[in-house]
Amino acid sequence: MNREELLAFDRKHLWHPYASISAPPPVNLAVAAKGTHIRLDDGLELIDGISSWWCMAHGHNHPDIVAAIREQAGKFAQVMFAGFTHEPAIELAAELVKHTPAGVDKVFYADSGSVAVECAAKMAVQYQFAAGKPGRCRLAALRGGYHGDTAGAMALCDPDGMHQVFHGYLQRNVFLPQPRLGFDDAWDESEFAPMAELLDRHADEIAGVFIEPVFQGGNAMRFYHPMYMKRLREACSERGILLILDEIATGFGRIGRYFAGEYAGIVPDIMCVGKGLTGGAITLAAAVASTHVAEAISATSPGKFMHGPTFMANPIACAAGVASLRLFEKYDWRAKVAAIETQLKRELEPYREHPNVTDVRVLGAIGVLELRTPPSPVRVQQLVRETGVWLRPFGPWVYAMPPFVTPPEEVAAVTGAMGRMLE
Ligand SMILES: *Cc1c(COP(=O)(O)O)cnc(C)c1O
Repeated sequence: MNREELLAFDRKHLWHPYASISAPPPVNLAVAAKGTHIRLDDGLELIDGISSWWCMAHGHNHPDIVAAIREQAGKFAQVMFAGFTHEPAIELAAELVKHTPAGVDKVFYADSGSVAVECAAKMAVQYQFAAGKPGRCRLAALRGGYHGDTAGAMALCDPDGMHQVFHGYLQRNVFLPQPRLGFDDAWDESEFAPMAELLDRHADEIAGVFIEPVFQGGNAMRFYHPMYMKRLREACSERGILLILDEIATGFGRIGRYFAGEYAGIVPDIMCVGKGLTGGAITLAAAVASTHVAEAISATSPGKFMHGPTFMANPIACAAGVASLRLFEKYDWRAKVAAIETQLKRELEPYREHPNVTDVRVLGAIGVLELRTPPSPVRVQQLVRETGVWLRPFGPWVYAMPPFVTPPEEVAAVTGAMGRMLE
């Protein structure tokens, strides 16, 4: 098919994320990607300002990750994980548990972030069942949260967010107030009282609490005070409720720590990882349980965790993950993230004065401008081509989360393009 035929077929037959089939939004035809750049069929090179939805930590097509994928594909592409194991799955888990908190080291692989959230939710419910509390089969989450697009995950997302059309279909969970204090604000103990009160009221029915640590992404684009996590950890432990950290967006260095939970020094009962796990090269995620959760599930009938995806621990994806996690040891990603943070702060802060800007937020390699009037999708597409920077504003937010390897002149191009979106 030539270019026009490809795009015509796409418009007619392909669903894109959050898109209409009858009035499809503009799409760019990608033909190659390398480092921080995505090349289009017409030769235009775009700087990937959002790491292809927050996952491309080391940049596109990193030679180490590509080599690992090639090598594994030459050995075997897939083998079922029931009755088999393999080196890529084992080595990836070994790399991963070097960084998870002590005692959180039982790795359950899943195909995508949303599925990892489903697995963590099922683990929490099965844990309570095993603990003789079958009535604890609801979950709790923060207002303003985002945990994915499958049914169980949607039921944990902000109830006033983008999934309202499915309201009647979803499990009714308990929603705790959105953290009010920002990351740098002075902590005020009274902030946690409404959360504690809700947990008390629902203690007999809640299996676990899901949070995105420090940074609420998809539905809020906002950093909050790490002390909420510390207090939530204590409150959950006191009530026998599990705490689940969804590190799918924040994990692997994105906000300046390997995992965002480190900002509060807490140990979760279960962690979800995804997105950056393979350096963004290929889909893979995991729910990582603590020993006490894994053992409790295994000790009581049915005596096993009841989940098993067909492509669980896909060897090619695991091999990509091993290469990606080893890359974190090969270059000083902390220095790179810190430098991006400094530059994002310096270059985005001045927009605070702009009449269309209501807030500016930066932490780690994440920069957010909150707008009064966001640009239209058509205007965004024009600006992407004009500036050569790939950004995808949504809701009132224009945000950047560039690959850690983005050089200063390209970070400047990204912040410049963000500024153009205010017009
Ligand atoms: C992206 C995301 C998910 C869902 O991951 P998918 O791979 O898109 O299914 C879940 N939780 C958080 C915090 C995310 O950012």
